[in-house]
Amino acid sequence: ASRRDAVVAQSLLATLAATVEEHKDRLGEIDAVAGDGDHGIGMSRGSRAAVEAAETAVAAGGGVRSVLSTAGAAFGDRAGGTSGILWGLLLETVGESLGNQEPVTLDGLARAVRAGATRVQAFGHAELGDKTMLDALCPFADALDQGAASGLPLPKAWGAAAETCTRAAEATAPMVPKVGRARPLAERSVGTPDPGAVSLALIVTAIGERLDQ
Ligand code: ADP
Ligand code: MG
Ligand code: MG
Repeated sequence: ASRRDAVVAQSLLATLAATVEEHKDRLGEIDAVAGDGDHGIGMSRGSRAAVEAAETAVAAGGGVRSVLSTAGAAFGDRAGGTSGILWGLLLETVGESLGNQEPVTLDGLARAVRAGATRVQAFGHAELGDKTMLDALCPFADALDQGAASGLPLPKAWGAAAETCTRAAEATAPMVPKVGRARPLAERSVGTPDPGAVSLALIVTAIGERLDQ
């Protein structure tokens, strides 16, 4: 099994958790506009559990796959809420797709993110335009594919995809939610971006900054 990339995965999960912590209040406020206001709290609980699980997996000599799979399971268990389950599935699927083979390549990562997006969509039954995290995740996966096709180095491709993801998250503001807890008060959410799309964009942007260092 791999070691170096497993440690990288663990440290990027720590970046994810730190990013959520930094923006926790704002994520709650965005979710409170039409939802129940717990997005920051849930993501914080889930990501802290994910970091702990990743530390244990690395200490036990696990590779990328075991680090992300156990982190995903812990995320889903502890976050509570829809996005916790979906983030748990996303991390588990990315881990399963990457496997324990080193090194992680851009092609492999693009495939893994695509697999994660497909899994989230299959589980949550949301379509593009329903105003969910998928409206940021699918453009992110597309942009990673494009970066891989253009032969960009991994950090550059990730950075460009993070910019695409951020614009896509902002572009959810005028949408009307079709699924999830924001649906009953759907009209109220017009003008505010989807909380799950915003948290995804913040997380992939922070990870991109770490990869570029
Ligand atoms: P809950 O809605 O259970 O309170 P959160 O507030 O943590 O959970 O997460 C809300 C976010 O979850 C939404 O902003 C949206 O991005 C995402 N979401 C909700 N339902 C779905 C779904 N069916 N498919 C994809 N994403 C979803
Ligand atoms: Mg909520
Ligand atoms: Mg909730």
